[in-house]
Amino acid sequence: MFGHDRAARARSYGVEPREIVRVDEGEETASCNGGGGALGHPLVYLCFEGKASVDCYYCSCRFAKPGYFAGERATAE
Ligand SMILES: [Zn+2]
Repeated sequence: MFGHDRAARARSYGVEPREIVRVDEGEETASCNGGGGALGHPLVYLCFEGKASVDCYYCSCRFAKPGYFAGERATAE
């Protein structure tokens, strides 16, 4: 409404709006290096800690299990 949605905030930080990467249901951790190259960052491991999704604190990429997408649909805002 006031023109400062999340995408606009992301742009102001100089990063692309977050991507969502699917991972298998059984995974306990995801690894991310930002895709490598100029947009990359050091390889980090992100623990799900029982949650359906986890966000990379470097590049804001979101790693999500199948349950995340099912839950998103059920609880859509
Ligand atoms: Zn990352």
